[in-house]
Amino acid sequence: MKPIEDYVVSIPDFPEPGIIFRDVTSVLQDAEGLHLAIDLMQEKLEGLDFDVVVGPESRGFIFGVPIAYNLKKPFIPIRKKGKLPRETVSAEYELEYGTATIEMHKDAIKPGQRVVIIDDLIATGGTNEAMIHLIEGLGGKVVKTVFLMELAGLHGRDRLQGYDIDSVIVYP
Ligand code: IMP
Repeated sequence: MKPIEDYVVSIPDFPEPGIIFRDVTSVLQDAEGLHLAIDLMQEKLEGLDFDVVVGPESRGFIFGVPIAYNLKKPFIPIRKKGKLPRETVSAEYELEYGTATIEMHKDAIKPGQRVVIIDDLIATGGTNEAMIHLIEGLGGKVVKTVFLMELAGLHGRDRLQGYDIDSVIVYP
């Protein structure tokens, strides 16, 4: 089997000049790549005591659900504003241009629960920081975040000091 890095197609100058886009879909569209990605992310949780998996729309769902299913944990979706039907808590965070708002059901996490966040990629860490804010606001404790990919040059870890961040593939 090939190393996981070999399944990621990197696209120069997308979505704008100077950016190298790391394409998750190239991993997903290969049966072995998909298997390997889930297995390697799940390995990062070995021996960890936790209660729930949280994943953001939409690529956090792709990786979060199979891991939650395999480990027999519940899966809590974080969605973009206005999608969840019951009472929510929300957090706004900054994007390169403008802001975004994410939401989670208010009853999704109970105080004291130990939470793992699963997502595809960390860039600036803004999304992760907003998710932590939501989870902690409900009294949950974020014990770890696992990413498939990390763009280390964007220093996402710097804004997440004190949190356990782990990535399967780290790009400089
Ligand atoms: P952050 O909030 O800056 O850490 O951005 C995280 C999100 O940005 C990821 O969940 C992706 O959706 C998106 N993103 C940024 N760069 C890339 C990339 O190179 N490939 C795929 N997604 C990216």
